[in-house]
Amino acid sequence: MTRAITILGATGSIGASTLDLIRRERDKWRVVALTANCQAVELARLAREFSAEVAVVADETCLPDLREALAGSGIAAAGGAAALVEAATRPADITVAAIVGGAGLAPTMAAIEQGRSVALANKEALVSAGDVMMAAVARHGTTLLPMDSEHNAIFQCLAGNDPAHVRSITLTASGGPFREWSAAQLAVATPEQAVRHPNWDMGAKISVDSATMFNKGLELIEAFHLFPVGLDALRIVVHPQSVVHSMVEYRDGSTLAQLGPSDMRVPIASCLAWPGRMDTPCAPLDLAALGELTFRAPDEVRFPATRLCRQAAEAGGAIPAVLNAANEVAVAAFLAGHLPFTRISVMVEELLGRYAPPAPTTLDQVIAVDAEARSHARRLLELV
Ligand code: NDP
Repeated sequence: MTRAITILGATGSIGASTLDLIRRERDKWRVVALTANCQAVELARLAREFSAEVAVVADETCLPDLREALAGSGIAAAGGAAALVEAATRPADITVAAIVGGAGLAPTMAAIEQGRSVALANKEALVSAGDVMMAAVARHGTTLLPMDSEHNAIFQCLAGNDPAHVRSITLTASGGPFREWSAAQLAVATPEQAVRHPNWDMGAKISVDSATMFNKGLELIEAFHLFPVGLDALRIVVHPQSVVHSMVEYRDGSTLAQLGPSDMRVPIASCLAWPGRMDTPCAPLDLAALGELTFRAPDEVRFPATRLCRQAAEAGGAIPAVLNAANEVAVAAFLAGHLPFTRISVMVEELLGRYAPPAPTTLDQVIAVDAEARSHARRLLELV
């Protein structure tokens, strides 16, 4: 029996890892929709290889290129925000939500509203719209499978256990490429240095988030929504080897951890095969070769992002969406060479102090908060 899959963000790092696993089990999968922003030629290549029903570019100006690249294939081509949402509503057994940033909000919600399985990598969507999104998951009876490696680890450690028995959940953080850097070094860090992650091969935005520790802070908010144990029970520990992907401590003092190679194909496979298991090409862990696994507390002086994210989660309402939007604008400015690395957190904190809209209760309201926060953030950028 084949399973139908849609991949939102098919041309990205998560998309490539997902398709790599599908490629190895080609006869077990039917690809419904593949989407990208504007990488039309690459999207068309993937759509042809996997005989997708439809390929969609979010940026409509890239649709002519997509149409040309798909000519004669019989694969439908579409473009624009509405087409992206339409692709997410096509019947599929599982949808992988792997668009980067707030751009994934509407299509991810559209997939959730189908009431099937959604494997969530797009953490920014859950950070911005956590309450609205989790309410939709409950309303539609959707199976939400966390694909982020930490949350997938927690999901696995919680399996078969009553969450009421959980004492704490610890998210591990590699600490990113600048873990050992001084404040003076951080002040002159370049985009090239920031995207060179020591353990993981990821897209540019999440790599910068990893360098600032915003990634871990966003994951804290993500965990807050996914695992209702309360904010006080959520911890972060720096674990440079990225072998232990997260841990759950129970009331009897038992701590369950999930370990694995630093390869996203492991958590992706866990989502694709859940509640079963599937093969991956990842090399098995060799603990003797690794020798040591080390852990230490995060440094919130050099890396204030986790503090800001915890405060945003505590405040709730629209504040996490404002934080996320400000971070996305700041990261884009840093990558473009317009903002020093250490100003990313400063800018986010500044915006949080200036803009506190009322709590959104619908997706449209979240999208409006996100848009407004971005324009405030861009104005702050002009002042830098
Ligand atoms: P990439 O930048 O590699 O890929 C992003 C994907 O989203 C691409 O397909 C891109 O299309 C598409 N996209 C970008 N902008 C838009 C837009 N405005 N509208 C629609 N589609 C868009 O990102 P990653 O794969 O690294 O990350 C994807 C998500 O998964 C992020 O939320 C990230 O935090 C999360 N994640 C990633 C991990 C990783 O290891 N990479 C690990 C855990 C979570 P195009 O190619 O055309 O630009």
